[in-house]
Amino acid sequence: MTQGQLPDQGWWQTNPWARMSFSRLAAHRRCPAWYRYTSIDWHASSTGPEQEAGHVVQDVLQRVFDGNPASDVSATALGERALARATRLFEKAWEQAITDFRANPNAVGDFAALDRARYAGHIERGLEFHLREVHAWLSDRHPRTGARLGLPAYGAVIDAWTGTRPWHAPASSEAGEPALEVIPQGWFQGQYDLVYEWTGARRIVDLKASSGSSIFSPEIAEQLTSYTFMERALGRGTPEGLEAWFLGQSEPMVFAVPDEAATDAWAERVRALLVKTGVGGARPDRADFDPAPEQPAGRSAAAGAASAWCAVCPAAYTCKVSGKKAPPAGRGVAFSPALPKGRGLTVEGLVLGMKAPRTERGKEKRRLTIVNESGVASFKWEERDCRKFFERGLRAGRVVRITGLNAWSPDDAPEQVHYFTSAGSTAEVVAEDWGGSVANRGVIEHDAPALGE
Ligand code: SF4
Repeated sequence: MTQGQLPDQGWWQTNPWARMSFSRLAAHRRCPAWYRYTSIDWHASSTGPEQEAGHVVQDVLQRVFDGNPASDVSATALGERALARATRLFEKAWEQAITDFRANPNAVGDFAALDRARYAGHIERGLEFHLREVHAWLSDRHPRTGARLGLPAYGAVIDAWTGTRPWHAPASSEAGEPALEVIPQGWFQGQYDLVYEWTGARRIVDLKASSGSSIFSPEIAEQLTSYTFMERALGRGTPEGLEAWFLGQSEPMVFAVPDEAATDAWAERVRALLVKTGVGGARPDRADFDPAPEQPAGRSAAAGAASAWCAVCPAAYTCKVSGKKAPPAGRGVAFSPALPKGRGLTVEGLVLGMKAPRTERGKEKRRLTIVNESGVASFKWEERDCRKFFERGLRAGRVVRITGLNAWSPDDAPEQVHYFTSAGSTAEVVAEDWGGSVANRGVIEHDAPALGE
C-alpha cells in the first residue's frame, strides 16, 4: 500500500479528526474493538484521578523548567531553590485539581483519595533528572555518553539552567485541546513531552507519572518509535536519543533509536490501518474490528474476561467477551438495532463519558456516550441542556435517565435516527455507580500527555 491510497494533504486539513495518533494506534493493537469504539464510532470515555494527577505533575515540572533562578544562584543552591518553587506550585496545583475534578462531569473516581506524597515524589524525581542535565552542562559533558562537548565557558550557573531548558508543549491545563504536531502528509499527529537540544541534537523525552509497572508501560517503545517517525517525516532527521522518564523509577530509561527501515515499516502498518478504517473512502467493514484482544505478557484476565485489557477498556460495557454487564435499559428505549422514532422519548443507562463541548454552526454542543443492556449510543446535545443535566446529577460513571427527547432523521437517510433535547428534557440519577465502573473506567483517548497510566 502506498501514500497514494490515502487522501491528499488538503483532505486532512479539513478532516483533522481522522488523523492517526499513537494513542489510537495503541488502542487498535490492544484490541480492534477498543479502536472501533474510540476511532470509528467516536464514543466518549471518562477521565480518572491518576490521569489528571499526571497532568498536574507535567504542568508543574514545565513551569519550573521555564522559570529563572536568581542570577547569583550557586550550583549547590540551584536544586534546593528549584525544589522549593516546585513544591509551592505543586501544593497550589494539587488543590486546584481536586476542585476541578469534582466539577468535571466527565471525571470518575476521587482525586482527593490519591496518594499526594507519591506525586510530590514524582515532581522531585523529574527535577532531579533535569538537574542532571544542568550539571552535565556545567561539566561540559554529554549526559548519556560522557563525551566532552566543547561548550563555551559559562559565566553564571543560571546560564546552565537556561541553556539546558527543554522545549515542551503548552501546559495541558492552559491549552485545553492539546497542541499537536502534524506530519506534512497530514495523516499522523502527536505531541512530545520534552525535547532536550542543548547537546547540539534532539533528545526526545516522554514523561510518565508512574513506576513503569502498569499494563500500559510496555507501550512506551512503540510511542517512541512513532516520535522517531514524526521527526523524520517533519524533516528533522534522526533524533539523538529517545528516553522515558518513569518518575517512580530512579533512572531515566534510554531506548535505541529505530533505523529508517523500522520506522518505514511502522508507517506502512499505520497507513494500512487508516485505509482499513475507511479514511476518505468506503465505510469500514465493522467485522474487521470485532473483539480480538492482545494478551499482555505477565497479566491475567479477570474472571469471564477475554484479556487483561478488558479491565481497563472503555468499550468493556459494550462488549460481549469483557465479562462486564451493562445496566438494563429500564424505562428507556432500546439502542439497537436502531433508535426508535417518536417524541417525548426516554434514554436510560450508564454514562461512559463525554467529549469537551465544541461550537457547531454557532451553537455549543457536547457528545455523551451511554450504554445499557440493549447497546451503546452517543448523543450530541446543546451544551446549555447538558449543563441542566449536570445540575441534576448527570456525570460519567452514573446510571441516569434522560426524558423528553425527540427523534429526527434526514430525509435521505431515514435509518439514521438522532435524538434531540426539548424544552421539557430533564435528567435524574438512577444509580450513583454501576458494577465497579469507577474502578474500571478505562482510559481517555487523546494525545494529551499520557502521564496518568
Ligand atoms: S472489553 Fe476486551 S475484548 Fe472487549 S473491546 Fe475491550 S479489550 Fe476488546
